[in-house]
Amino acid sequence: MLAYALSTLAVNLMAQIKRIVVTGGAGFLGSHICERLVGDGHDVICLDNFFTSQKSNVQHLLGKPNFELIRHDVTLPIFLEVDEVYHMACPAAPGHYQFNPIKTTKTSVLGSINMLGMAKRCGARILLASTSEVYGDPEVHPQPESYRGSVNPIGPRACYDEGKRVAETLFMDYNRMNKVEVKIVRIFNTYGPRMHPYDGRVVSNFIRQALTGHDITIFGDGQQTRSFCYRDDLVEGIIRLMNSPTDVIGPVNIGNPDEFTIRELAEMVIEQTGAPVNLVQKPLPADDPTRRQPDITLAGKVLDWEPKVKLREGLQQTIDWFKSVDLSHYRPPTPNFV
Ligand code: NAD
Ligand code: UDP
Repeated sequence: MLAYALSTLAVNLMAQIKRIVVTGGAGFLGSHICERLVGDGHDVICLDNFFTSQKSNVQHLLGKPNFELIRHDVTLPIFLEVDEVYHMACPAAPGHYQFNPIKTTKTSVLGSINMLGMAKRCGARILLASTSEVYGDPEVHPQPESYRGSVNPIGPRACYDEGKRVAETLFMDYNRMNKVEVKIVRIFNTYGPRMHPYDGRVVSNFIRQALTGHDITIFGDGQQTRSFCYRDDLVEGIIRLMNSPTDVIGPVNIGNPDEFTIRELAEMVIEQTGAPVNLVQKPLPADDPTRRQPDITLAGKVLDWEPKVKLREGLQQTIDWFKSVDLSHYRPPTPNFV
């Protein structure tokens, strides 16, 4: 009797262990998702071409029996047997995605087609890491999921914004046509340890500049706003969405509604690092959104999720991490003209 009970328990536990692919799994957010899933006992495959990341982000997972790393470009097909796919692969920082904009669009479009094809073949559930950039420079504030956005389709940000919009379309069409179980998360500006120190995003730029004694570069007058979400809150929201009932498809906004001007962020970084640096003004990049704030009512309702980490606290964790790494270890993205 005891033996039967134990074997039933073992079978039930095995059934909860899933084979999960994380594309872009060596990146900032992907590496934290891999870490969480490995810790939960799942069999995790990280797929990455290391365009904007490096192996060191997942080095600590390499020896684990339930973690595997494959160097692969998602614009090419791959055949794996999986239960779930977290589709995170895509350069996310403006400097990274504008480096080779054609490749960025290919990554969003071809990468989504390849991963959706794999999910369809395996009967796997698949989650898309979409973005608040689908709202463009929004006329509606804060942005609910029902807002259809204001994107310039021919500007320098379009490769990313329109690429993600097409990816969302593909996810919905695979769901309607092929019954693939899909989830779409629209991620708002997220920061934290393991951001690429040279990715040019505002949090990484300001902290690196302050810690290395360089003046902080404010683009435009610094009155544009962003709402910053700490990575732990974001990862929790994404995992909850993946594990939500089948009829919760999204898109679901995940972000922190606390909104700050870029100048306020710069002042906080100076205060928290204690760095004797000044603010310098640089031209505002084309199509830079003037404001951004998530409406997270839906995430609260369907995922019982809300962010917990205040900006000041998350910034301190991020500053401490930046202090602990050797910046010479990081390099700009590899030239890639595929
Ligand atoms: P990141 O640049 O750190 O991670 C992206 C990862 O994808 C990197 O490891 C990169 O090497 C990999 N990658 C890029 N192109 C690839 C390709 N063709 N094949 C395989 N791997 C490829 O960025 P992140 O901040 O971790 O973003 C992860 C995802 O979340 C992206 O899809 C991004 O669009 C989305 N997102 C992030 C934020 C944010 O604030 N961090 C906001 C909105 C959306
Ligand atoms: N920004 C800035 N200085 C920097 C980097 C960025 O003032 O060194 C501004 C940028 O113009 C934008 C905001 O900070 O208004 C957020 O930029 P980021 O690249 O982090 O992300 P975005 O939300 O624009 O994709």
